[in-house]
Amino acid sequence: MINKDRLVETFITLGKINSPSGKEGVIADLLEGELKKLGFSVVRDNAGVPINGETGNVIGSKKGTAAGGVPIMLNAHMDTVTPTEGWECKFDGDVIRSRGDMILGADDKAGIAVILEALRVIDEEKIQHGDLQIMFSIAEETGLFGAKHADVSLITSKCVFCYDMGRPVGSVTVSAPSHDNILFKVKGKASHAGARPELGINAIVVASKAIANMKLGRIDKETTANVGVISGGTARNVVPENCEVRAEARSRDTAKLDVQTAHMIKCFEDAAAEMGATVEVDVNRSYLGYRLSEDDQVVRIAVEAAKRAGVEVVMHETGGGSDSNIFNAKGLPTTVVGVGYENAHAVEEYAVMSEMVQSAEMCVEIVKVAAEQRD
Ligand SMILES: [Zn+2]
Repeated sequence: MINKDRLVETFITLGKINSPSGKEGVIADLLEGELKKLGFSVVRDNAGVPINGETGNVIGSKKGTAAGGVPIMLNAHMDTVTPTEGWECKFDGDVIRSRGDMILGADDKAGIAVILEALRVIDEEKIQHGDLQIMFSIAEETGLFGAKHADVSLITSKCVFCYDMGRPVGSVTVSAPSHDNILFKVKGKASHAGARPELGINAIVVASKAIANMKLGRIDKETTANVGVISGGTARNVVPENCEVRAEARSRDTAKLDVQTAHMIKCFEDAAAEMGATVEVDVNRSYLGYRLSEDDQVVRIAVEAAKRAGVEVVMHETGGGSDSNIFNAKGLPTTVVGVGYENAHAVEEYAVMSEMVQSAEMCVEIVKVAAEQRD
């Protein structure tokens, strides 16, 4: 049976360890130790090297005790967004909140705590399981780098369950968007703002015109776009020569993403042409979307496990990216399931303890259902 107090205690222990992206060394050491206590052999891959991180991904493997079964991997990421320095939490009935001026980090430490609690129960109750792998990944928040640089030759699992989604717990993610990062560098012409403004080309005005003409926000059911950062100019009295704009577009339909990104580029090119400026555009498709079918084994296992755990199943189409995008693109069928937190990436983030318990119950069932499958 899931031990709620132990689950919450694990979450608090993890919360207290500061682990922004790239600085997961301490938490990785702790998790490696926990997995070893549970009988896993543990390796670290070299995913941290390209990003100068403190560690690679922590990958634990344990041979199955059941005859047959499909080999599965459970995944959660070790890094959090910031601020988390001097982490403290407070309890409010069934809810755990941050102190109010920092991130709780339930995204994704609640996911790690849920996985560890499920593994402890499986160990204590000697529950039969197939081959099991655990990956606690690095640097998810800054660009899914742990998954991108993961050594997939170490992964022998056929289905991956990613514990990196808030609520409801019975969510089974069947599709996620592709994502374009777009950087616009506008180059105008500097000039004295008072003496010779007519000789200048104002790069900030070019960017403003481009953005004013742009379709942004929710474009349709599966497509979104945003301008997130703008910077330019050097002084109040100088016509700005340069302006940089960081934008993004996402869609669960790649063709629609292509259209949206092209539209955003055209807005900048038109505005630049109109004012005699130039624009340099850098588009980076940072990850690919995916669509799973209800017949896919990974989805079937998650749905059956939710039912057995008494959790209502919600087929979920997400607007966000996660390590699951990378795993699916690398040929590892992956779904994302709910952990029981809300308002991730905000100081209002909170986790619901009874829902984390349900998530751990569902996790135990995922392992049991996978063990019954014919590989
Ligand atoms: Zn996350």
